[in-house]
Amino acid sequence: MADRSDVSALVNLAQAYNAILYLDDAHALGVLGENGMGLAAYQPGADVVVGTFGKACGAFGAFVTCSAKLKNYLINCCPGFIYTTALPPAVIGAIAAALALIPTLEPERQHLMQSAARLRLQLQQLGYDTATSDSQIVPLIIGDEGKTLRLSEWLEKNGILAIAIRPPTVAAGSSRLRFCSLQPALIRAN
Ligand SMILES: *Cc1c(COP(=O)(O)O)cnc(C)c1O
Repeated sequence: MADRSDVSALVNLAQAYNAILYLDDAHALGVLGENGMGLAAYQPGADVVVGTFGKACGAFGAFVTCSAKLKNYLINCCPGFIYTTALPPAVIGAIAAALALIPTLEPERQHLMQSAARLRLQLQQLGYDTATSDSQIVPLIIGDEGKTLRLSEWLEKNGILAIAIRPPTVAAGSSRLRFCSLQPALIRAN
Protein backbone atom coordinates (compact mmCIF):
# COMPACT_ATOMS: atom_id res chain seq x y z
CA MET A 1 0.00 0.00 0.00
CA ALA A 2 1.14 3.48 -0.67
CA ASP A 3 -0.10 7.03 -0.53
CA ARG A 4 1.39 8.21 -3.80
CA SER A 5 0.12 8.01 -7.36
CA ASP A 6 1.46 5.38 -9.75
CA VAL A 7 2.21 7.89 -12.51
CA SER A 8 3.17 5.40 -15.24
CA ALA A 9 -0.06 3.44 -14.64
CA LEU A 10 -2.05 6.69 -14.90
CA VAL A 11 -0.20 7.61 -18.12
CA ASN A 12 -1.10 4.22 -19.59
CA LEU A 13 -4.76 4.61 -18.57
CA ALA A 14 -4.94 8.11 -20.04
CA GLN A 15 -3.47 6.85 -23.31
CA ALA A 16 -5.81 3.84 -23.42
CA TYR A 17 -8.90 6.03 -22.93
CA ASN A 18 -7.64 9.07 -24.86
CA ALA A 19 -8.03 11.13 -21.70
CA ILE A 20 -6.17 14.20 -20.46
CA LEU A 21 -3.95 13.42 -17.48
CA TYR A 22 -3.82 16.25 -14.92
CA LEU A 23 -1.42 15.65 -12.07
CA ASP A 24 -1.28 17.64 -8.84
CA ASP A 25 2.28 17.16 -7.62
CA ALA A 26 2.10 19.62 -4.69
CA HIS A 27 3.32 17.18 -2.04
CA ALA A 28 5.99 15.54 -4.16
CA LEU A 29 8.04 18.50 -5.41
CA GLY A 30 11.24 18.78 -3.40
CA VAL A 31 10.79 15.40 -1.80
CA LEU A 32 9.89 12.61 -4.25
CA GLY A 33 10.97 11.65 -7.75
CA GLU A 34 14.30 11.92 -9.52
CA ASN A 35 16.37 14.79 -8.07
CA GLY A 36 13.42 15.54 -5.80
CA MET A 37 11.64 17.15 -8.72
CA GLY A 38 8.31 15.42 -8.16
CA LEU A 39 6.64 12.23 -9.37
CA ALA A 40 6.02 13.62 -12.86
CA ALA A 41 9.60 14.79 -13.44
CA TYR A 42 11.60 13.28 -16.30
CA GLN A 43 8.57 11.21 -17.24
CA PRO A 44 6.60 12.09 -20.35
CA GLY A 45 2.88 11.43 -20.48
CA ALA A 46 1.12 13.82 -18.09
CA ASP A 47 -0.63 16.57 -20.06
CA VAL A 48 -0.86 19.01 -17.17
CA VAL A 49 1.23 19.07 -14.01
CA VAL A 50 0.51 21.59 -11.27
CA GLY A 51 2.71 22.17 -8.28
CA THR A 52 3.24 24.72 -5.56
CA PHE A 53 6.29 26.71 -4.48
CA GLY A 54 4.67 27.18 -1.07
CA LYS A 55 5.53 23.82 0.47
CA ALA A 56 8.98 22.17 0.13
CA CYS A 57 10.32 25.22 -1.74
CA GLY A 58 9.54 27.41 1.25
CA ALA A 59 8.41 30.28 -0.99
CA PHE A 60 5.03 31.20 -2.46
CA GLY A 61 3.16 30.76 -5.72
CA ALA A 62 2.50 27.82 -7.94
CA PHE A 63 3.01 26.60 -11.49
CA VAL A 64 1.35 24.75 -14.32
CA THR A 65 3.41 22.82 -16.84
CA CYS A 66 1.49 22.14 -20.03
CA SER A 67 1.48 22.57 -23.79
CA ALA A 68 2.05 26.05 -25.29
CA LYS A 69 -1.57 26.01 -26.46
CA LEU A 70 -2.97 25.41 -22.96
CA LYS A 71 -0.52 27.94 -21.53
CA ASN A 72 -1.85 30.63 -23.87
CA TYR A 73 -5.40 29.70 -22.98
CA LEU A 74 -4.71 29.96 -19.23
CA ILE A 75 -2.85 33.28 -19.57
CA ASN A 76 -5.73 34.79 -21.51
CA CYS A 77 -8.77 33.18 -19.88
CA CYS A 78 -7.97 32.30 -16.27
CA PRO A 79 -9.48 35.07 -14.05
CA GLY A 80 -7.54 34.07 -10.93
CA PHE A 81 -4.34 34.61 -12.88
CA ILE A 82 -5.33 37.71 -14.87
CA TYR A 83 -6.54 39.70 -11.85
CA THR A 84 -3.79 38.74 -9.41
CA THR A 85 -0.61 40.79 -8.95
CA ALA A 86 2.46 39.01 -10.31
CA LEU A 87 4.85 37.47 -7.79
CA PRO A 88 7.38 40.00 -6.42
CA PRO A 89 11.03 39.62 -7.49
CA ALA A 90 12.12 38.54 -3.99
CA VAL A 91 9.74 35.57 -4.17
CA ILE A 92 10.93 34.67 -7.68
CA GLY A 93 14.49 34.78 -6.30
CA ALA A 94 13.55 32.45 -3.43
CA ILE A 95 11.91 30.03 -5.88
CA ALA A 96 14.98 30.03 -8.16
CA ALA A 97 17.24 29.36 -5.16
CA ALA A 98 15.02 26.51 -3.98
CA LEU A 99 14.95 24.92 -7.45
CA ALA A 100 18.75 25.08 -7.59
CA LEU A 101 19.08 23.60 -4.09
CA ILE A 102 16.56 20.75 -4.36
CA PRO A 103 18.63 18.41 -6.61
CA THR A 104 21.52 18.63 -4.11
CA LEU A 105 19.41 17.56 -1.13
CA GLU A 106 19.47 13.77 -1.59
CA PRO A 107 20.95 13.11 1.91
CA GLU A 108 18.26 15.34 3.46
CA ARG A 109 15.56 13.47 1.52
CA GLN A 110 16.88 10.15 2.84
CA HIS A 111 16.91 11.56 6.37
CA LEU A 112 13.34 12.79 5.92
CA MET A 113 12.09 9.37 4.76
CA GLN A 114 13.93 7.62 7.59
CA SER A 115 12.41 9.97 10.17
CA ALA A 116 8.93 9.40 8.75
CA ALA A 117 9.45 5.62 8.75
CA ARG A 118 10.61 5.71 12.38
CA LEU A 119 7.59 7.78 13.42
CA ARG A 120 5.20 5.43 11.57
CA LEU A 121 6.74 2.34 13.11
CA GLN A 122 6.58 3.73 16.63
CA LEU A 123 2.98 4.88 16.22
CA GLN A 124 2.05 1.44 14.86
CA GLN A 125 3.79 -0.26 17.78
CA LEU A 126 1.59 1.83 20.09
CA GLY A 127 -1.42 0.43 18.23
CA TYR A 128 -2.21 3.49 16.09
CA ASP A 129 -3.46 3.41 12.51
CA THR A 130 -1.22 5.35 10.08
CA ALA A 131 -3.36 4.45 7.03
CA THR A 132 -1.42 3.77 3.82
CA SER A 133 1.35 6.31 4.41
CA ASP A 134 4.76 5.49 3.00
CA SER A 135 5.79 9.10 2.44
CA GLN A 136 6.87 12.08 4.51
CA ILE A 137 3.23 12.75 5.42
CA VAL A 138 2.20 10.58 8.34
CA PRO A 139 -1.47 10.49 9.36
CA LEU A 140 -2.67 9.18 12.69
CA ILE A 141 -6.28 8.14 12.26
CA ILE A 142 -8.39 8.92 15.34
CA GLY A 143 -11.92 8.87 13.92
CA ASP A 144 -13.77 11.14 16.35
CA GLU A 145 -13.48 14.84 15.54
CA GLY A 146 -13.47 16.11 19.14
CA LYS A 147 -10.84 13.61 20.25
CA THR A 148 -8.67 14.56 17.28
CA LEU A 149 -8.86 18.26 18.17
CA ARG A 150 -8.08 17.59 21.84
CA LEU A 151 -5.06 15.44 20.97
CA SER A 152 -3.80 18.09 18.54
CA GLU A 153 -4.09 20.76 21.28
CA TRP A 154 -2.39 18.53 23.85
CA LEU A 155 0.49 17.81 21.46
CA GLU A 156 0.90 21.51 20.68
CA LYS A 157 1.20 22.29 24.40
CA ASN A 158 3.92 19.64 24.48
CA GLY A 159 5.88 21.10 21.59
CA ILE A 160 4.59 19.01 18.67
CA LEU A 161 2.62 20.66 15.89
CA ALA A 162 0.26 18.08 14.34
CA ILE A 163 -2.70 19.61 12.55
CA ALA A 164 -6.16 18.06 13.01
CA ILE A 165 -7.66 17.14 9.63
CA ARG A 166 -11.44 16.80 9.77
CA PRO A 167 -14.41 16.40 7.42
CA PRO A 168 -14.99 17.61 4.75
CA THR A 169 -11.25 17.38 4.00
CA VAL A 170 -11.44 13.67 4.93
CA ALA A 171 -14.41 11.27 5.11
CA ALA A 172 -16.72 11.48 8.14
CA GLY A 173 -15.48 9.33 11.02
CA SER A 174 -11.88 9.37 9.80
CA SER A 175 -10.58 12.54 11.49
CA ARG A 176 -6.87 12.41 11.93
CA LEU A 177 -3.70 14.19 12.90
CA ARG A 178 -1.25 14.88 10.12
CA PHE A 179 2.42 14.89 10.96
CA CYS A 180 4.80 16.47 8.44
CA SER A 181 8.54 16.56 8.79
CA LEU A 182 10.60 19.71 8.39
CA GLN A 183 11.47 20.56 4.82
CA PRO A 184 14.97 19.38 3.87
CA ALA A 185 16.16 22.84 2.80
CA LEU A 186 15.40 24.22 6.25
CA ILE A 187 17.24 21.40 8.01
CA ARG A 188 20.34 22.18 6.00
CA ALA A 189 20.01 25.95 6.45
CA ASN A 190 19.97 25.42 10.22
C1 LIG B 1 -1.17 22.91 -0.93
C2 LIG B 1 -1.76 22.23 -2.10
C3 LIG B 1 -2.16 22.96 -3.22
C4 LIG B 1 -2.18 24.47 -3.26
O1 LIG B 1 -0.97 25.05 -3.19
P1 LIG B 1 -0.89 26.60 -2.82
O2 LIG B 1 0.30 27.09 -3.54
O3 LIG B 1 -0.78 26.64 -1.33
O4 LIG B 1 -2.16 27.23 -3.30
C5 LIG B 1 -2.65 22.28 -4.31
N1 LIG B 1 -2.75 20.94 -4.30
C6 LIG B 1 -2.41 20.20 -3.22
C7 LIG B 1 -2.54 18.71 -3.28
C8 LIG B 1 -1.89 20.81 -2.10
O5 LIG B 1 -1.56 20.08 -1.04
